Amino acid sequence: MDRRAFLTAGGMAAVGVGLSGCGARGARPATPSAAAPKRPLTLAPVKATWDRIVRTTVGLRPHRDAGFVLKPDTLDDRLLIHNYGHGGAGMSLAWGTGLMAAEFATEHQARQAAVIGCGSVGLTAARQLQRRGFDVTIYALAVPPNVTSNMSLAGFTPASGLVEQDRRTDEWDAQYRRAAEISYRQLQLMAGPYFGVSWLDNFTLSDQAPDPNRQQGNSGRPSLNAGFDAGRELYGPGEHPFPTKYAIRSPSIRIEPNIYLDALVREFLLWGGHVVIRKFDAPRDLMSLREPIIVNCTGLGARELFGDRELIPLKGQLSVLVPQPEVNYHTQGGLRPQPTQPGSLAIHMMPRTDGIALGGTSQRDVWTLEPDEGERQRVVESHMEVFNAMRGLKA
Ligand SMILES: Cc1cc2nc3c(=O)[nH]c(=O)nc-3n(C[C@H](O)[C@H](O)[C@H](O)COP(=O)(O)OP(=O)(O)OC[C@H]3O[C@@H](n4cnc5c(N)ncnc54)[C@H](O)[C@@H]3O)c2cc1C
Repeated sequence: MDRRAFLTAGGMAAVGVGLSGCGARGARPATPSAAAPKRPLTLAPVKATWDRIVRTTVGLRPHRDAGFVLKPDTLDDRLLIHNYGHGGAGMSLAWGTGLMAAEFATEHQARQAAVIGCGSVGLTAARQLQRRGFDVTIYALAVPPNVTSNMSLAGFTPASGLVEQDRRTDEWDAQYRRAAEISYRQLQLMAGPYFGVSWLDNFTLSDQAPDPNRQQGNSGRPSLNAGFDAGRELYGPGEHPFPTKYAIRSPSIRIEPNIYLDALVREFLLWGGHVVIRKFDAPRDLMSLREPIIVNCTGLGARELFGDRELIPLKGQLSVLVPQPEVNYHTQGGLRPQPTQPGSLAIHMMPRTDGIALGGTSQRDVWTLEPDEGERQRVVESHMEVFNAMRGLKA
């Protein structure tokens, strides 16, 4: 397939980390310049060597096969709003589900709210409540940097590890679509060093020509990634520095979790919020709170606290290299074929101020926070193969 056909058809499905499909809302026409040969890209290679690895981190993504839970409920005379189960998309979707949680809260007469949880989902819900005039206290067992959200790769991946295709419903899809659109816009407005949000080109590496039909998906439902793929371009052999035949460039939003979460905490406090460190073992513990509105943003903690047995971890780990400020792109995929063993994803690399994160695991229902050494070797060595080849070195 030539480049024009690729662009006209909507392009390769996987444009972001962990994305299983994408595609525009309706095919976009190819621009005349898109068909012209491109000047070869020059990009600084990552120095991927074992002696530059500074840490390996583990986080448990809060996944439900049926997708996140976002709904009002009651707890005696309190309004209880659930907002949890964001899988591998909780950094991406949180502003949207937070706004919708705040809308449920505004139907109550009171303007005092307790948010349970201080990760990405709790902090953004708290800010959305404050923006609507609520007096908010966050109660949480752990706060940044000791929450799952800090362990995230944190690309804008609104559908990653989020929902099983056959469990999607019209109602859930509508909630998802609105949440993703709100978040996409909000994060764009936060770009800059204060929040640690920025645009970066993602390159999806492949030896296979992109399949224009893959965007259709196989559930009969529209792709969850449609509409979040502006500016995508295909680079063919000789047009890019990677050791694969093709590289698909997609401008995408990067969040640096350590900067972002601290900034959200600061903003929340600046707007008069309070944070209380506290663990809740059962719903009855929540009855001691003074707030008449409670927003449950406990992530994986909701499994024990509210008995949601559908909530399970997708264990992920990142091995982090010494930072290289000159690396200004991220990648997905490498030279090895797509892994087929359970728990292994296509590899991905994300450069940040706090290091270059290398990832590619999603182990279902695995609860340990210990790194998986086999996966660590696979992820780091697969990246070494890519970047050594880019540097003209032998792997
Ligand atoms: C390796 C990896 C890569 C990822 N990459 C991405 C990505 O690229 N893009 C993306 O959008 N997402 C990504 N994610 C997913 C993202 O990190 C999660 O979806 C997100 O962190 C979930 O946020 P949360 O606020 O629900 O949970 P958490 O950050 O875990 O926060 C939960 C909060 O609830 C509190 N809590 C829980 N139970 C209780 C209790 N009983 N009592 C009191 N407090 C309680 C906790 O202490 C904590 O404060 C990734 C995750 C991992 C591990």
